[in-house]
Amino acid sequence: MLIIHKYGGTSLADSTRIKEVAKRIKKESQKGDDLVIVVSAPSGMTNQLLEQASEICTTPSLREVDMMLTTGEQLSASLLSLALQDIGVDAISFNSFQINMKTTNTYGSAKLREIKSDRIFTEIAKKKVVVITGFQGINEHNDFTTLGRGGSDTTAVAIGVCLNADMVEIFTDVDGFHTADPRLVKNAIQVPYLSHSEALEMASLGAKIMHDRSVALAMKYGINLHVRNSYNDNKGTIIGEAKMEEIKLNGVAHSNKNALINIMGQNISSATIGKIFTRIKDLNINISNISKTQDADNYQQISMLLESDENIERFIKYKDEIIQNKDNEINAIEINQDVAKVSVVGFAVRTSGVFAQIWQELTSNNIDILMVSTSDLSISSVVKLADMEKAVQILHKKFFETANSI
Ligand code: ASP
Ligand code: MG
Repeated sequence: MLIIHKYGGTSLADSTRIKEVAKRIKKESQKGDDLVIVVSAPSGMTNQLLEQASEICTTPSLREVDMMLTTGEQLSASLLSLALQDIGVDAISFNSFQINMKTTNTYGSAKLREIKSDRIFTEIAKKKVVVITGFQGINEHNDFTTLGRGGSDTTAVAIGVCLNADMVEIFTDVDGFHTADPRLVKNAIQVPYLSHSEALEMASLGAKIMHDRSVALAMKYGINLHVRNSYNDNKGTIIGEAKMEEIKLNGVAHSNKNALINIMGQNISSATIGKIFTRIKDLNINISNISKTQDADNYQQISMLLESDENIERFIKYKDEIIQNKDNEINAIEINQDVAKVSVVGFAVRTSGVFAQIWQELTSNNIDILMVSTSDLSISSVVKLADMEKAVQILHKKFFETANSI
């Protein structure tokens, strides 16, 4: 069998951890499977590098930032390879340049296009463990690019797809997915199985355990994932095909990297709104929820929810451009970053009454719901940031700690 392992930054934080990971890999390779390992930078390093760049320069060039960031993963890959060699495992590390891992051109949020697998297969044929840098690639100019924060998971799945791997195992510092973040909810329950779409919903709604793009990629190509703890041998969470008959809720996810935007004005024309959304698209700002209201005097308000620091930063820069433009009818823009999104996730949210219960639970505990968005698999309430933790605990208690709650 060909198995991909991906180790996150906490699993590679220091020499002791790297040696532990090497031991685990040795044990697995002794079973006779071929192994390809994808690594993240040691934990904290990506942030540290970004901080240093901003100390040196106020608006660092994205090309240079990517050139810098790719060193973190290179460090992990070479150190892990050394640790493996030291315990008698034949290993070789590669960065994305060496295996021609092509991406689109956009620095900072590139998308993987293709991976030349010949060199990887040549080394596997020699019975070597191949260690590959996550999170990076090269673009058409042969410059390094990065895939966006948390992108190593996506590299691991992409490599799994290209090499036609039997399994992609994502090693992290918790035992897989839980019904809520165990740091906020002490009764959170570990979830043994999720369909791709359920896991994707959890990941995109803030379960920080995996990069959402990696789950989407696994779903597209039907790759099974196994999310496990690198510190123990617990079973973790398998992500695979949907079990059609099962009607259940999977968990409460939360995210505090949000901003609620209100764009206001009198008689805002459709052309103005159209231009704003086109510009938002061109600036690579993703919006997750939009609503528009107007009163009897035609005073209008367009509200939207932004997720992730990158989106918020880009919008903050764009704000002045809208306000200073004399040709539009916009006279105020509010950006409220003190908000959080708390989501109940699972197939069963379609059953009637789940939202009524969410509303009842939150409002009776004096938590205001500022915006609601729904999908086939989730109901998300935007609340004040200060209420986030309490909201997660209340909803977890309601749906996962009380018998027959749905
Ligand atoms: N080192 C990168 C980050 O911190 C990528 C990753 O860890 O997946 O975002
Ligand atoms: Mg990660």
